[in-house]
Amino acid sequence: MNLPRTLGELRRSNFSEEALRKRGVKDEMRDNLVAKLRKNEQIFPGIVGYDDTVVPQIVNAILSRHNFILLGLRGQAKSRILRALTNVLDAQTPYIAGCEIHDDPYAPICKPCRERIARDGDAVEVAYLTPEERYVEKLATPDVTIADLIGDIDPIKAARGGHELSSEMTVHYGLLPRANRGIFAINELPDLAGKIQVGLFNIMQEGDVQIKGYPIRLPLDVALVFSANPEDYTARGKIITPLKDRIGSEIRTHYPASVEEGIAITSQEAWTARNGHKLHIPKYVQEVVERIAFGAREDKKIDKRSGVSQRLPISCMENVISNAERRAIRHEEKLVVPRIGDIYAALPAITGKLELEYEGEMKGADFVGRELIRTAVAKAYDVYFKGTDMQQIVQWFDLGGEIQLADAAGANDALVSLRGIQGLMEKLVKLNVGPKDATETQVSAAEFVLEGLHAHKRIGRNEERVFTAGEKQPKHPEKPFEREELPYRPRRPFN
Ligand SMILES: [Zn+2]
Repeated sequence: MNLPRTLGELRRSNFSEEALRKRGVKDEMRDNLVAKLRKNEQIFPGIVGYDDTVVPQIVNAILSRHNFILLGLRGQAKSRILRALTNVLDAQTPYIAGCEIHDDPYAPICKPCRERIARDGDAVEVAYLTPEERYVEKLATPDVTIADLIGDIDPIKAARGGHELSSEMTVHYGLLPRANRGIFAINELPDLAGKIQVGLFNIMQEGDVQIKGYPIRLPLDVALVFSANPEDYTARGKIITPLKDRIGSEIRTHYPASVEEGIAITSQEAWTARNGHKLHIPKYVQEVVERIAFGAREDKKIDKRSGVSQRLPISCMENVISNAERRAIRHEEKLVVPRIGDIYAALPAITGKLELEYEGEMKGADFVGRELIRTAVAKAYDVYFKGTDMQQIVQWFDLGGEIQLADAAGANDALVSLRGIQGLMEKLVKLNVGPKDATETQVSAAEFVLEGLHAHKRIGRNEERVFTAGEKQPKHPEKPFEREELPYRPRRPFN
């Protein structure tokens, strides 16, 4: 595309003064969103599970030209949604070439640009910004300063140019002015010091700010979006009231409402398309991995305030695949099929994502992690095998049968041993696995049955992954896991 290169050319193009003047960034977002809604286009491609909850509220916020905040626990795709807002920015935005704050060629706010236009007129050079270049993001921390965010007086600039200290020529711009005519996102807003929040508010409200006591006029055009942990945000005194008042919409995010939705997100995000081996991830492995996160979000031993990120099942799945991949490489197997044993081996991808409460700390992250996997296995097992008679298999172990199934064990040898367990292989029909399936697939499925029985304490298993008879529990041979996940209930927004 041949874009106009000077102010004069710009005036005679589609970017005419009439088309651009008075069209702030929020008007632009609104216009582009309306166009997408008319065409029934997906607004946030790749954001799963928010179509009926979060997305409509964001759409409303943009249509209302609001600054808005996403409130949610960690790993709820908040930053991702904010970044996706570039989808509703123009493909090309003209600005005065070289201007640090991307001045509008028709209405520059910085003094150097105004002087350039006065001197060179229509010959002033014009450059363009892509949507990505117009998105600026900052993680708030208590040590963020006015200088970082808004700017500083640069004494060297002042000395060199012979300017007055408070002249605009001497300002070294911070992040917010550099986001002029774009989107500025602040993550974890409550971590921003009160003084900085005041500065932010003044800029939003008046376009004026004081830097080191000097008043600077900066009528910026910025769409401000934020994210925060809901408890931090609502805690008294964390956000100064006038700033809170200027945030038009508070939108609550949430974790996946169902295991299926979680699986969809994890499948999309986890790195699975690797070079080399053919990969088959059984459905029950996906379910177990997802249920670990669901279980953790309900577990008393884990801190509810910080939540359990969707990154837990994502990294877990990546590690599960890697463990299976390692096994396949060692045994020269063509097909990589993860097993439950690979999930236990993926503990390092789980423990770091759990913020433990006191009780959890006492037991240790490893213990808590293993318990979560075991409970997840029991629940996934029930999906396929609840009510299925497994007595024959249990009996085989009760009569002294033992089998070791190391997570590193090759599929061929493992299958021979598993076939020795009476009644086991024919049960795999419930998983749609039969004798004609790949060895790796059969082994994974049979191991899932044994792990399920172990999770229900019907058979035993030690640290070396030797399955044995279980401890005798005559009264309750099968303790069902009755408690299913509660369905997700969106919390009502405050407004
Ligand atoms: Zn400028």
